[in-house]
Amino acid sequence: MSKTRPEILPGTGDGINRAADLLRNGRLVAFPTETVYGLGGNALSDATVASIFEVKGRPSFNPLIIHFSDPASAAEHVEMSAMAHRLAEAFWPGPLTLVLPRAKSSAISLLASAGLDTLAIRIPANPIAQSLLRACNCPLAAPSANRSGSISPTTADHVARSLGADIAAILDDGPCTIGIESTVIGFMADDCVMLRPGGMVREDIEAITGRLLDPDSETTISSPGMLQRHYAPETPVFMNCVTPLQDSLVLAFGPVAGENFPTGSCNLSPTGNLNEAAANLFAMLRELDRAAPSAITVMPVPHHGLGVAINDRLVRAASNHDRYSRD
Ligand code: AMP
Ligand code: MG
Repeated sequence: MSKTRPEILPGTGDGINRAADLLRNGRLVAFPTETVYGLGGNALSDATVASIFEVKGRPSFNPLIIHFSDPASAAEHVEMSAMAHRLAEAFWPGPLTLVLPRAKSSAISLLASAGLDTLAIRIPANPIAQSLLRACNCPLAAPSANRSGSISPTTADHVARSLGADIAAILDDGPCTIGIESTVIGFMADDCVMLRPGGMVREDIEAITGRLLDPDSETTISSPGMLQRHYAPETPVFMNCVTPLQDSLVLAFGPVAGENFPTGSCNLSPTGNLNEAAANLFAMLRELDRAAPSAITVMPVPHHGLGVAINDRLVRAASNHDRYSRD
């Protein structure tokens, strides 16, 4: 593990080749995807995968998503059902992760899937991520490039601030276009299960799958990472508030003309656009947290489309304050 500053690499041919060299040599490189920045390492190497868990401080029971350049390479490592093929055709490359039975022949590190007999796989759409995956010619295990339990990074600067001293390089492609993690789908007999709401909205997935179950008592599969408090700023977060709490800064949503919010407050989307809100969510939570108010007051965010994933992350950010949080 390096303890020097990471190389900041541009998203050019040279930058991508340098990143690919480092990855082939077992080093960790943060790279952009359309969802959030990933902490990439060669998924075939146990030692590299172990260093991802170490650098993130991630519990070893929480498996990693494996990223591939194309669906055919991914399909070599899992047993794709007919429904998985339909979802892959409709939404890959894109912000959708599928959890499927691991193929017996797969050489992906067992540590990456935390000993489960399934693998979580994704084809990212970001062109720099695509070029990197082709250049390094190996699948990349890539959780979000933040310390476990803190807010996911949507810029290279966010990565540098949290993991900078412990990784070899950061491939910089500016802010992530979607800004919220991938949707994770699992399969149970003939049903599909939404293990994590994310950048691919439920309505679009249901158009392909029909009924989409939630991981509750009806289902026997779960996503280990969803059990823990996650995405949390240091400052206490209070959701669904209509007026600012005392000495707090506000995370607003939608038109708030005439409201007199404290200086330093943020608006996820002044026009009430959920795509814009998702792209701004993590950067604004960081900005408000850095100002260290006594609390962050979050206004209601509509619970449909990308709002479902936004509210999921806000619930986790607010999870030590039951009184105001949803559910
Ligand atoms: P992150 O790597 O931070 O984007 O988180 C990945 C998410 O995918 C976590 O919630 C993991 O628990 C989930 N995940 C990864 N692999 C599996 C798997 N084999 N089965 C169920 N969930 C998984
Ligand atoms: Mg994460």
